[in-house]
Amino acid sequence: QLLLRADGSVWLGMQEGLYRLPGATAAALERVHPLGGALHGGIYAVRQAPDGRLWVGGQQGLFRERAAGDGALQVLPQAPEQALASPIVMGLLWGRDGRLWVDTPVSGLHRLKGWDGEGRARFERISERHGADGVFGGNLHEDDQGRIWSQLYVYDPAADRLDSFGSAEGANFGSFWFFASTELPGGGLLFGGSRGLLRVLPQAWRALPSNPPLVLSGLRVNGQPHEPPRTLGDGLRLPPEKRSLSVEFAALDYADPTRLRYEYRLEGLDSGWTRVDASGRNPSFGPLKPGKYTLQVRATAHHSLWGTEQLQLPITLEPAWWETVGARIGGVLAGLLAIWSWMRWRTRSLRRREVALQALVDERTAELRELSLTDTLTGLRNRRYLELRLDDDLRLCLRRFETPGYEGVGDGPGPDADLLLLLLDLDHFKRVNDVHGHAAGDAVLVQLAERLRQVFRETDSLVRWGGEEVLVLARETERRDAAELAARVCAAVRDTPFEIGPGETVQVTVSIGFCAFPLDPRHPRLWDWRACLALADSALYAAKAQGRDGYVGAIRANGLSPREAPEGLASWQQESRLEVAQGTGVRSRATV
Ligand code: GH3
Ligand code: MG
Ligand code: MG
Repeated sequence: QLLLRADGSVWLGMQEGLYRLPGATAAALERVHPLGGALHGGIYAVRQAPDGRLWVGGQQGLFRERAAGDGALQVLPQAPEQALASPIVMGLLWGRDGRLWVDTPVSGLHRLKGWDGEGRARFERISERHGADGVFGGNLHEDDQGRIWSQLYVYDPAADRLDSFGSAEGANFGSFWFFASTELPGGGLLFGGSRGLLRVLPQAWRALPSNPPLVLSGLRVNGQPHEPPRTLGDGLRLPPEKRSLSVEFAALDYADPTRLRYEYRLEGLDSGWTRVDASGRNPSFGPLKPGKYTLQVRATAHHSLWGTEQLQLPITLEPAWWETVGARIGGVLAGLLAIWSWMRWRTRSLRRREVALQALVDERTAELRELSLTDTLTGLRNRRYLELRLDDDLRLCLRRFETPGYEGVGDGPGPDADLLLLLLDLDHFKRVNDVHGHAAGDAVLVQLAERLRQVFRETDSLVRWGGEEVLVLARETERRDAAELAARVCAAVRDTPFEIGPGETVQVTVSIGFCAFPLDPRHPRLWDWRACLALADSALYAAKAQGRDGYVGAIRANGLSPREAPEGLASWQQESRLEVAQGTGVRSRATV
């Protein structure tokens, strides 16, 4: 780089640094150092600003003369946010409008926009903004339209458009040289390269259209060639089984097809554009879901400008019947119906099970209840059963005797109004056990129960009261029939021997004491249940005392109080306020 200044000094930018020849007569070059530092490495640009100050750029950045002609170089202060993108300066050029252009190796062309408040330079990054990487060219020239040229690019500030050159424009002169260019008379530019000189005629320059026409050059569906629609606007309609497609497109620009670039997207699938070079003109899509898509393609021969020209192909993929909205709703409904039916079935079967279980529980409960109320040996009722029933029986009976129409006249308010309480005790049963064994005794008890069931009605309660004692509560009966009933029991026991083993029998008799309830019809509550029971017990003893195999019973009391109840056979026979029935063996008689 060589600069001859008006004061006659000559400035030389060299690979080793900056030198000056102070005047035409000076004998030797002087090395120039900037203020406050030393310059190492190459100096690539030495230029004088319109104000006469010297600017120097190179490996170590950008320097400026402190004042025109003083030869003192200073580092150019730069605003931090708007500094040069690369510190190395490859070219400097003052335009005719007085503005500075700076070229750097990595991020290309810059323009000095102005200065900030602290006097620091503010640069604008032209190449970077236009998507052009690398050096702008180093050799900067301005044509008469104000456009900035190098052997690689032209920048038009008026249109803010950056175009590059290549073999398509005939700029094919091998590797270019830095610092090997000049402006020719008439506006031409000359650049030096490894294969010769490149002459550029700026006034003849026409930028190539950046948006060449686009065509769909191929179409495949499911891998098979497919006829493209006659006009793209008609779109492509594919049946349900066709789900994949690939397309091929081409921009009709023949100047240099290798520099064509394409962008495409399938609207409905991709949100952003996919950028490819000429080798990627054949994208595939799929398998795609049924629906509507639009294939959009655009192309450019320019490095950054994308035209408005677009290829648009609407594509419709028809759904299979099961993919239609109706089928899906139907499917969901069918699923819900199935779930509902299953739940209904399940609920019902659970309920059925519950009912069955409840029935089983009821049955078992009844069985248990029956068991708990039954004597296991004889099948007769137990005391508990009597306790459960007795109150109701007594209340019912008393109600009849206390009906207003009945004033104690006669034995009762009507037929079958009485309850009979009979206490049975086998005679000398201990002997049966002693002679024949306990099992024989048990057999007798079991048969006794059967015989009693024959004698009494089903509605009467037969309760095993003690070991070989049975309490019978005969309902809806008449006190006048009590003696006969007792005699029948005695006969039923006495008249048939009891089987106690194979071919072995035993003769058994029974004694009975009984009491009618209510005992005194005129005072139905005078003899309560306990008193009646005690009286029957006493009667049983009397029956034993009179010789067994017989009965003694109280049929009716007439003003006798329980406190005066007879005790012992003799007092039974003597009590005049008590109607007593008495009988022994085959003979039986009622005594009043
Ligand atoms: P009586 O009543 O005539 O005065 O004489 P008894 O020998 O029957 O005397 P008591 O009523 O006092 O004795 C009852 C006997 O009954 C006592 C016992 O040996 C017998 N016994 C009680 N319960 C059972 C039973 O479940 N099975 C058998 N085999 N014997 C029983
Ligand atoms: Mg006894
Ligand atoms: Mg006995």
